[in-house]
Amino acid sequence: MIFIVSVIILIITTLCVVLKVYCKLTTGICRSSRHLVGKVAIVTGGNKGIGYATCKDFAERGAKVILACRSERLGTAARDAIISETGNSNIHFKKLDLSSLASVRAFAEDIIKTEKQIDILVNNAGVFEVENEKTEDGLLLAAQTNHFGPFLLTNLLLPLLKSSAPSRIVNVSSEAYRFGKLEFDNLNAEKETEETYSFSQVYQNTKLFNVLMTIELAKRLEGTGVTTNSLSPGFVATDIILNVKKGFFRLFALFGNAFSKTWWEGAQTTVYLAVSPEVEGVSGKYFSDCHEQSLRGVANDKDLARKLWDVSEKLVGLK
Ligand code: NAP
Repeated sequence: MIFIVSVIILIITTLCVVLKVYCKLTTGICRSSRHLVGKVAIVTGGNKGIGYATCKDFAERGAKVILACRSERLGTAARDAIISETGNSNIHFKKLDLSSLASVRAFAEDIIKTEKQIDILVNNAGVFEVENEKTEDGLLLAAQTNHFGPFLLTNLLLPLLKSSAPSRIVNVSSEAYRFGKLEFDNLNAEKETEETYSFSQVYQNTKLFNVLMTIELAKRLEGTGVTTNSLSPGFVATDIILNVKKGFFRLFALFGNAFSKTWWEGAQTTVYLAVSPEVEGVSGKYFSDCHEQSLRGVANDKDLARKLWDVSEKLVGLK
């Protein structure tokens, strides 16, 4: 019995080591040394995880970085840490709660009033394990945080992004988009009950929305000098994964650290899309590990992308 248990432990440990080595060898790294002195970058959810590592990289390159975060305490602490770690003091916190359309509008108004340019917008913030809750705007909390809020924010900042061209919009999606569904009568879980609601299905849906929004936005931005791309950061040891409490996904929390990327590794494709000369002029594409990937299934459907755009415009009050 002891022998069998030992063999099983040995097999699991070996698998984890092999997986970890595989992850390290295949992780894409942004090799560009381009500086960002004189550039302005906004990163949503910059206070921790992939967003924090992204802000830190931009700060090291000399950019003015605006951490757009919902918590003043966490946002200012992250700002101070980045200033002390990089020596760049042009790092700022501004309050942004993507689950409130009023907060998104107030943030965008403030940016338009105070900034002359935006060179990089990273729609990074997101949530995973969220209950079937509605926001003050009547939208599903996870859908508003992951899609409708960033959709409104991007639209409100477009005039400034266009006048700052060449500029780049980077949307952090996920490989989970492959399992996403786009049902126009269920965008906000209207059809779900307590029993049928699945936070993971909603997450997958919203990550599909990120990819579709990128495709339609790229079409609308043709000829403006503003590009937009989406990406999967890979499996990264951040709170969104490590704090999961329910179901199968609890395994992420238990074994996540064994074969996941670090925050720095998880930010590499975001940074690549934001700064690399290799992707200058590239728009509407999907990347992981700093390489373009072909999209699967409905994520290729340009008509669906346009329809999602139109419906989103109505739901956030742009039309
Ligand atoms: P994280 O460490 O949990 O960071 C999520 C960030 O989003 C936090 O700064 C969080 O702020 C912010 N946020 C959540 N709700 C918000 C709201 N209503 N308004 C403004 N900000 C809000 O997770 P992460 O892994 O870095 O996630 C970054 C992105 O990567 C997400 O879009 C996620 O879907 C994507 N992603 C991650 C993985 C992975 O393996 N980690 C894989 C695929 C895709 P608080 O600190 O205040 O909560």
